[in-house]
Amino acid sequence: MRVRMKVEVRGIVQGVGFRPFIHRLVSGYGFLGWVRNSSRGVDMELEGEESELREFASRIAPEAPLLADVESVECAVMDTLANFAAFEIVESRAMASMDTLISPDIGICPDCLREMRTPGDKRYRYPFLNCTNCGPRFTIIRDVPYDRARTSMGVFPMCPDCGREYRDITDRRYHAEPTCCPDCGPQVFYDGPGEERLEGEAALEKARQTLKEGKILCVKGLGGMHLCCLPEKAALLRQRKQRDGKPFALMCRDADCARELCGMTAQEEELLTSQRRPIVLLPKKRRDEWMEVSENGYMGVMLPYTPLHYLLFGDDIDALIMTSANLSDKPIMYRNDEAERELRGIADGFLLHDRDILTRCDDSLLCVADGREYPLRRSRGYVPYPIRIGELTESILACGAEQKASFVLSKPGMAFPSQHIGDLKNFETYENYRQQIGHFERLFDITPRRIACDLHPDYLSTRCAEEMAEELGVPLIRVQHHHAHMAACMADNSLTGEVIGLIWDGTGYGTDGTVWGGEFLTGGYGGFTRRGHLRPLPLIGGDRAVKEIWRLGLAMTGREELYGGYDASAALRQLRAGLNCPLSSGMGRLFDAAASVMGLCQTASYEGQGAVLLEAAAEADCRGRYAVKIDEGCVFDYEPMAGELMRDREAGVDAGVMAARFMNTLMDMAVAVTERIGGESGLEDVVLSGGSFQNMYIMARLPGMLREKGFRVWTHSRVSCNDEGLSLGQMMIALHAGC
Ligand code: ZN
Ligand code: FE
Repeated sequence: MRVRMKVEVRGIVQGVGFRPFIHRLVSGYGFLGWVRNSSRGVDMELEGEESELREFASRIAPEAPLLADVESVECAVMDTLANFAAFEIVESRAMASMDTLISPDIGICPDCLREMRTPGDKRYRYPFLNCTNCGPRFTIIRDVPYDRARTSMGVFPMCPDCGREYRDITDRRYHAEPTCCPDCGPQVFYDGPGEERLEGEAALEKARQTLKEGKILCVKGLGGMHLCCLPEKAALLRQRKQRDGKPFALMCRDADCARELCGMTAQEEELLTSQRRPIVLLPKKRRDEWMEVSENGYMGVMLPYTPLHYLLFGDDIDALIMTSANLSDKPIMYRNDEAERELRGIADGFLLHDRDILTRCDDSLLCVADGREYPLRRSRGYVPYPIRIGELTESILACGAEQKASFVLSKPGMAFPSQHIGDLKNFETYENYRQQIGHFERLFDITPRRIACDLHPDYLSTRCAEEMAEELGVPLIRVQHHHAHMAACMADNSLTGEVIGLIWDGTGYGTDGTVWGGEFLTGGYGGFTRRGHLRPLPLIGGDRAVKEIWRLGLAMTGREELYGGYDASAALRQLRAGLNCPLSSGMGRLFDAAASVMGLCQTASYEGQGAVLLEAAAEADCRGRYAVKIDEGCVFDYEPMAGELMRDREAGVDAGVMAARFMNTLMDMAVAVTERIGGESGLEDVVLSGGSFQNMYIMARLPGMLREKGFRVWTHSRVSCNDEGLSLGQMMIALHAGC
């Protein structure tokens, strides 16, 4: 029967190519009526056969554009027919505030890739083609409202051909602001020291040759520059970049090439090949291979995401190291002139182009854990997309932590987490952080009414929050670090009420002024109670012990003879005298101490290296464990564990066995303490957050162990468990603060 039906779609459905999508879907059925943006989503009225209309409605969510997030589709048959004469897109009425969603940069889509590979097509081998479904967005936008003139594509006027596609609703470039072709768009070029500039195909060929000769190339990506070379040349790159042992990411030509190197589940492959194109952490096939690229059991792998990347690989390069071009904690480089100036002596050649990057955005890093996407760094491909939080009613700025800085700005219903910013102690990074806060405020039209920051008085993010709160005359809410982690994981999972929080990380400022980090909390957005924690470990020499982790091994065991090559006896005297030995209950420090006792690492070349190497060493199917002693107040006493660990070490037990036993012990402890807290509090929901949960050995086991005891266990899937995710929690706590 022919009816008129009202269809209301709710969720993130604006600014994502949703109306052209509806237009295409509707044309397939020949319905008549209209579609328009509304303040809550997209509304339609359509006339047609009722069964066909219902079928159409059922296809909306599953077939929606990549960036759409459809929450609901509601249909209602109306009493009368309107006898529409056509199907049209009705202009929205004063929806300015809702129209400001901005797409992340999205990897090249299959249609564009096909065009690029089709001889005779006008965009054959053109490195900058894009369409409504793919290409640069966030990183080329200068201002809102989003149109070409306000992007770095503004200096490339569209040719008549591109203009026609742009205006044609049936074309896949309809309203694609950065669309272009070889006649009107950006051009690629190659610069080498002392060489003449090459353009077009010659530039590409020269860049490929540079790589194949084993040299190092700087390539301009979407949100910044990469340094790139063949994987065999990892040592050369490490030496020139003066990079510590931190793993490099690999870009593989395609999923098959990635599969040669790494194991991959179907879910991991889906993430790897998704158009968001994150770096995916995958287990190496053979743990001892490619140690120069990554010294642990995992490899960060991504696929090409710009047309330029595809042309660079051709069909004869399988894998390239692709690492952000930045020097000593500075932000990623993004301008041609700075790259050519600062990377002289590091890169042998530069493959660049004349489309400016306006906003830095590093590659995202994710893995699959606990059956879901697990972000470790949420950046390109994800930012600046909002997280929907229904109960959000206020504009809040949350300033995050310091070393893995990020911020969140919110408006009613939505939180906008920033991209990866880096370590604020670097001046350029701090400047970029301040600029990005201003940029987000403008893009999303937000003036914060409250500001949240960490309790740590010396974090530069705290300093920024204090200044801004003063300037704007708005309340400043200081949030305890681990409370914020707990709230972040709650918000990530849309939880309300009260939970048990296992919050394990390296360092956070406690309410008592000491350093926390191995915490068992209960509470919610409104407050928390510290229910249990690790027995604090003295950091001999204070901050020095974070790098020189043998000091932690010494503090844990008191065994000077383990540390012949070091200043152990002086350190032990210092410990006994209690001079500059602040206490830390940080889980990260306990891992460092254990890694040192196992002989895996004595001086960390990057933060968390001890824990990374310990995890990498662990025998996967070792069931052994050490003693768990839990004192009054749910304080885990590491001493019996340390004693047994020492006995293993003296008996010459393999480090892989000791590493597994150590982590099994911590998980036993976690279950025992959680059960005790659950018994006392009656709480059944457990959230796992904090940087120590980047440990995949624990992530693969602990959630299941807790579920077996009847708990509901919640892990992250939208923001990171490390300090980068902290700002989301700060925001939720500020929302609930009485002020
Ligand atoms: Zn495309
Ligand atoms: Fe933390």
